[in-house]
Amino acid sequence: MHDVIELVRTDDAIAKMRVVELLESFTGVGKVRAIAILDRLGISKTRRLQGLGTHQRDALIKEFAIPRVNLDVGSLIVLSGPGGVGKSTVSKEIRKRNDFWVSVSATTRAPRGNEVHGVDYIFMSDEEFDRGIANGFFLEWAHFAGARYGTPRQHVIDALHEGKDVLLEIEIKGAKQVKESWAHSILVFLEPPTWEDLVSRLEGRATDNPERRAERLALAQDEMAQAPFFDHILINDEVEKVVASLIRLVHSQRS
Ligand code: ADP
Ligand code: 5GP
Repeated sequence: MHDVIELVRTDDAIAKMRVVELLESFTGVGKVRAIAILDRLGISKTRRLQGLGTHQRDALIKEFAIPRVNLDVGSLIVLSGPGGVGKSTVSKEIRKRNDFWVSVSATTRAPRGNEVHGVDYIFMSDEEFDRGIANGFFLEWAHFAGARYGTPRQHVIDALHEGKDVLLEIEIKGAKQVKESWAHSILVFLEPPTWEDLVSRLEGRATDNPERRAERLALAQDEMAQAPFFDHILINDEVEKVVASLIRLVHSQRS
């Protein structure tokens, strides 16, 4: 985006191009999403590139910025693995210790127990989630156990540009989507010490009813087979050890 905007000064054809046409020419941005982005950034649908104001230009560049690995930009680490392995336990520990900036996901599932909107999840209706997909709000999103989950894109980009290391704790399909768009992301697969440990962790969790637990166990079997797609595999025998390994991985990418 930055390169195209630079051409406005020297290339008449680019200067006269409508912004909406430029957006539609990008992979993954159809008509609906292009118009939604323009609405969100307060840019008229008929605006040509040469007519953009400074703020509008900056907002468009930021919208399509692709973080690169350098000293000014943080690392993106994606923690995934089968349900019940301990992903949210690890990410809660990281959040408590402030080791990384931890993304808060959006979901269409109902809040459990004492989960707080905006802290544990951004709880959304199906309609809100649909709108989020259409206007490019999500960096990745996936269906999981009857609900939809997604990572708000802009918060992650802002944190990375502020030089923060960012942790996403997400399921496997979403982790693969992140790798496709950001090759430099570090994909970590968390494994239980044994299958029996996974079963007892899932069964020990009071938040799922027996039917739901059986469903999650069946799914976990498929999920365990996805480990080879990941950059690193960590065994969650002790939460502290996993946290230390994640910090080491980020440091070694930087050096
Ligand atoms: P996930 O987010 O991957 O679905 P959770 O973080 O909810 O998994 O953990 C599932 C259960 O396993 C919880 O009861 C949690 O306390 C427990 N657990 C997590 N990590 C460990 C560990 N290293 N050793 C023993 N139990 C653990
Ligand atoms: P739970 O309902 O137990 O909180 O989460 C269910 C699953 O959704 C977990 O495996 C969790 O990692 C995953 N998840 C949470 N947030 C996101 C997200 O933003 N995107 C994706 N793809 N998965 C997520």
